[in-house]
Amino acid sequence: MRLVPLEIGKLNSARSIIDGGEGMLPFPIPSWLIEHEHGLVLFDTGLHVDLQSSTDRIGPSATFFDPDFSPGEELTARLEQRGIRTTDITHMVFSHLHFDHAGGTVEIPDARIVLQGAEWDAAHESKYIERNIYNPDDFDHGHDVETIDGEHDLFGDGLVTCIPTPGHTPGHQSLRLELESGPVVLTGDCVYTEAMMDDMAVPKFGHDTDLQVASMRELARLRDEDGCRLLFGHDEDQFRSLPTEGLV
Ligand SMILES: [Zn+2]
Repeated sequence: MRLVPLEIGKLNSARSIIDGGEGMLPFPIPSWLIEHEHGLVLFDTGLHVDLQSSTDRIGPSATFFDPDFSPGEELTARLEQRGIRTTDITHMVFSHLHFDHAGGTVEIPDARIVLQGAEWDAAHESKYIERNIYNPDDFDHGHDVETIDGEHDLFGDGLVTCIPTPGHTPGHQSLRLELESGPVVLTGDCVYTEAMMDDMAVPKFGHDTDLQVASMRELARLRDEDGCRLLFGHDEDQFRSLPTEGLV
């Protein structure tokens, strides 16, 4: 099994809402490709290709999140660069359905969506859609959808496991992978960066801050007790340090 980091553009993000600092912070926007013998999995799909030319689809969020996204960086191109067609992808597992995690979904025609039922439900609630927290045009494209509740072993062999880490959103989850080199957890937006993990710091705009901190503690436990390497959701330095050919 191989884990490959794909970068689907960047967002320059206002530190005022992320860590309380000043100015903007560049965030890599990952889609993680997992090559398993029984399927090709994406964990999140990155930015919608329209954001290469206009921020219309994210409305007022553009004040805080400024896309830095060029042709050739969209999900289809990133897969092509690895010799993979979009039709080869069998599963899309989502940490959550914010615009920078679900935007590439429309490019993947045949894969089954796997996510926590609480996230799917929240993402269709009109009160959140009206507040621009979710945009169904990111994820409602007629895919098969498998909603899960709690931990879920994707292939039944213990190698790829969804771990609920709610808080940032109602149904947020992380993904644990048993690589040959050791266990890894893709934290998603439960934890943006290593520094925020060290400080137990949470962005100000999440759904439930206390719940998110509890989920961060669970990830810290997996790190400390199970020896899991944590790969953070938007950590520029860590992301740059990963080998482009991936981890095995
Ligand atoms: Zn998010």
